[in-house]
Parts: sequence; C-alpha cells; structure tokens
Amino acid sequence: MYEGVNASDGIGIGVARVAVEPDLSFTPHKPDDAGDEKQRYAAAVAKFIEQTNAQIERMKQTVGEEAAAIMGAHIEFAEDEGIQEMVNGSIDTGMCAEQAVSEAYDMYYNMFSNMEDELFRERAADVADVKTGLLADLLGKEVVDLSTLPENSIVVVHELTPSMTADIDKDNVAGIVTETGGRTSHSAIIARALEIPAVLSVADVTKNIKSGDMIIVDGSRGRVLVNPDDNDLTHYRAKAKQYAEEKLALEAYRGKETLTGDGEKVLLVANIGNPDDANVASEHDCEGVGLFRSEFLFMDAKELPTEDEQFAAYQKVALRMKDQPVIIRTLDVGGDKEIPYMNLQKEENPFMGYRAVRYCLANPDQYKVQLTALLRASAFGDIKIMVPLVTNIDEIRQVKALVEECKSELDARGVAYNKDIEVGTMIETPAASLIADDLAAECDFFSIGTNDLIGYTMCADRGNDKVGYLYEVYQPAVLRSLKRIIEEGNKAGIMVGMCGEAAADPLLIPVLISFGLNEFSVSAPSILRTRRIISEWTKAEADALTEKVMKLKTATEVKAMLQAAAR
Ligand code: PEP
Ligand code: MG
Repeated sequence: MYEGVNASDGIGIGVARVAVEPDLSFTPHKPDDAGDEKQRYAAAVAKFIEQTNAQIERMKQTVGEEAAAIMGAHIEFAEDEGIQEMVNGSIDTGMCAEQAVSEAYDMYYNMFSNMEDELFRERAADVADVKTGLLADLLGKEVVDLSTLPENSIVVVHELTPSMTADIDKDNVAGIVTETGGRTSHSAIIARALEIPAVLSVADVTKNIKSGDMIIVDGSRGRVLVNPDDNDLTHYRAKAKQYAEEKLALEAYRGKETLTGDGEKVLLVANIGNPDDANVASEHDCEGVGLFRSEFLFMDAKELPTEDEQFAAYQKVALRMKDQPVIIRTLDVGGDKEIPYMNLQKEENPFMGYRAVRYCLANPDQYKVQLTALLRASAFGDIKIMVPLVTNIDEIRQVKALVEECKSELDARGVAYNKDIEVGTMIETPAASLIADDLAAECDFFSIGTNDLIGYTMCADRGNDKVGYLYEVYQPAVLRSLKRIIEEGNKAGIMVGMCGEAAADPLLIPVLISFGLNEFSVSAPSILRTRRIISEWTKAEADALTEKVMKLKTATEVKAMLQAAAR
C-alpha cells in the first residue's frame, strides 16, 4: 500500500494506465533490408490511422462531432503522399524507419511553424502529434491519451497539469494517482470538481505501478493499493457503496436554504473554472458562484481571448445563474498557473513575483479588455468583479479607476452594463489581512483565499508535501488572521466570503460560523455536505467551541479539539 495526499474523496477501483511521457529517443542504424523497413513504416501508418479513427468515433460520443473532426488532420498527415514518398525515399538511401520518419516530419513541422498564417502554424502541432504516434509505434512504446481511456481506468502520472485534467474523460476514469501536488494544487481542485477520487504526491508510482495493475484509490484517506487481495477488494467495495449511500443521504439538503442550526442565513455558492462548470454547480444546488477562476479561460486558449470571447463566457454564467450572484475573479496568472502564449519570464520565486493583479495593472490595455467584457456581461446577471493577490490599497484603487474608464468607454459605445457593479478583493496575503480595515473601506466585498493565505502566512508552499505540516488552516496564526479579516469586513458592513478550500472543511465550519462568515464558496460536489454541516451548528454552540479553540497554541491541539467536536 502507498500513502499520499488525500486530494479528492471517494473510492476508485480499476485498472492502472501509467501515462509516462514515452522516451522516443533512438540510435539510427542501417537496416538490412529496405523493403522490410518500408513495411514496418507502412504498418505503423496503418495502425496509427486505425487508432485515430477509433479515437474519432469515441470523441464523437464524448466531445462532439466538431472536436472529433480536428483529429482528421492527424489522418491526413499520416496518409500524405508527399510525406510517404519522402520517408520511403530516405529508407532507400539506407536510413532506418525511425530516422526517416523523424526527419520527414521535422521538416514539415519547421515549414508549418514558420508560416505567417495562424491556421498553418496550428497544423505544426498536428504534425508533431503524428510524428510522436508513428515513432512510438516503431519503438514499441505506448502514448496514453487521457481523453479516450477505457472504462474504470486509474490514471497514474507524474504530474497532472490543468490542461491534462481538461482532457480527462470523467466517465471512464475511476481514480487518479500522481507523484506531485498538494491538496490545494490545481490538479487537486480539478479532480474534486470532476468528482474523481485522487491521491497525490505518492513517490515513484509511475515506476512502481505498471499499466494493467489492478488498483484501489482511497481518495478520502490518501491510500493506494496495488493488486489487492480478495479481502481488500471486498472491504473497499463495501466502502465505495457506503460512500455512495452517504452521498445519496445528502440529497435531503437539496433545494433547501442554507441556515445555521438557529436559522441564520448564509450564502452557499460554488467555485468554477469555466462556463460549463456553472451547469454542474447548479445541478449540485449552488446559490450562485463565489469564484469563477477566469484564468482557465486564458489557459484553455491558444492566444488572448478577445473581448467578445470573454463576454460570451461571462454572459453564459450570468444567464445560467439568473439572479444569483456571480463573482468573477480577474486574471490570476503566474505562480503555478502558466499561460505559455503570454511569454512571462521565468522567475526565481514565481509565487512572490509578477503575477495576478500585479501583471494586470502593468498591462492595463489587456486588463481593460477583461474588465469591459465583465461589465458587458453584468447587464445579464448579478456579476461582481474580484481582484486577486491584493497587498495594498493602491492596487484596488487602480483597478477601480480602470473599471470607471471602461464604463465611460461603454457609455460612448452605447453598450449596457450594471452601473453599480460591485468590486471586491480576495484576501489571500498577510498584507491584505493586516490592512483589512482599510481595504474594507474601499471594497464592496471580501473573499478569503485560504489556499494562498495559509501558504503566505506560514511560508509554506501549497504544493510541497514536505512542508504540509505547516500548511494547515488550523495553525493559530492562520486562525487569528481569518478572525481579523472577517471581523473587519463585518464591522464595515461588507459581505465576507471564503473561496479557498477551507470553506468546505467540515472541521472548520463551526469556527467560520462563529467568526461571522457570510458566504461559503466551495467546489460543486461539496455543496450539499457543507449545507448539512452548517445546519448542524447554532451560533452559540459554534461560539463556545471557537472560544476554546482560539486559546490553543498549536495546530495539532486545534485539529484534535475540532475533530472531537465534529458532528
Ligand atoms: C485561494 O488562494 O484560496 C484561491 C481561492 O485562489 P487559487 O486557489 O486559485 O489561488
Ligand atoms: Mg489564490
């Protein structure tokens, strides 16, 4: 059994698919027989076409005709007569098939990638994919395509990048195991949104697990079992059933208001990464959106999304949520969120560098495109603008000044928007926490980003499991910071929400009720459970517990007391 970070709840039982980047290096050699070598090449082409056609058929079912059609280009580049003549010609001169394929496809790749026309440049990526597919086959290696896995697959990878997670076919993936990442890494957040059990940071799993191994992923406890015996299988099948039953019991909270035990109303909203997530969140009975991470819109694109493209995405969420609030966070680029086409320079310390609101304010023209799109979408619903990584008053004032500029420009264009749109700030830095009183006077709302706030307060990287014992919301330093932020926000009469993962922490919920948190923003699958736990605490009970908790000196003591009190 292996242990790792319990990143996404649930039990997954299935067959391992180890997705290592295949090593496609080879030593060129002179084949004995050119005819045989051409046959190897022809067989690789035939197999590639067969696999791609099967993939297209599967994609038609899962992602639709249009997306599937894109794969047609792969077939064209495998069948292309010009390329085939070139490869066969090279084999005739004494090259092995690997080298002939490599050189021919590299030539086409260079040709396409140097073209002016964007469409042709994009084809370079198709050429590279075909080369990888053919070489992998010639070398007897497997390339795992996460979008077309067989049913009950357990994906085992070194690192799950946000783009890989976007490819994952949720219906067929029963679990995820990785070698890196912490509970609040973006891979973990996406795994939870997809409701796929996941265990992260398990050392060397891509070496120790082989494709085809039977795997159990216990995402709630952070355990991975390889080729389990019958006892384990029976035990975990029963646990999976129990988990499903508990989920079903939560259905009693669907359609209900979110009230504390003594009837105090709080808002229970969802964290989303793209407009489609808004549908999922609604299906889970959210009362609005507390955090739309707009950077995923930028990460999923090949170039900066235009004002119209952004408007369409924001409008879609606004319309889906009707009159419910939708907080959209402006671009939070940098840190662990890279956007390749933005060409941001590598930095020594990216989490403390040129990112989020710092980048946006340094590129006001680009930022105004996003602010304008948000304003336009505000005519269709209750959209609010949220600014990430604020550390001082100037930043929020500058953002508000840009919003005013965008409003004037929209007036001149005769375009409708909500003139009273709210602008709020994330509180996710110790600096923002310390000046919460001043910030509250300048903002319409706060949303506490505990994922970063814990990291910056404790000087512990959220993705580094070695310092995971410091990266704890139960640390007294973090709790005092949360108390201060919520109290200052309450004093100023603005809404105080929390969109970090701690908002869904069952142990912390009574403490947050006691501090006076007004809004809990959680991943869609956590909504009903969070509603249940909120309903189990009266303010007086939560206050009594919190008073004792705030006197404790260590995170271990805090956690133990909260565990003992958990309902
Ligand atoms: C946070 O820092 O708590 C947060 C919600 O933002 P992100 O996880 O995207 O950094
Ligand atoms: Mg953050």
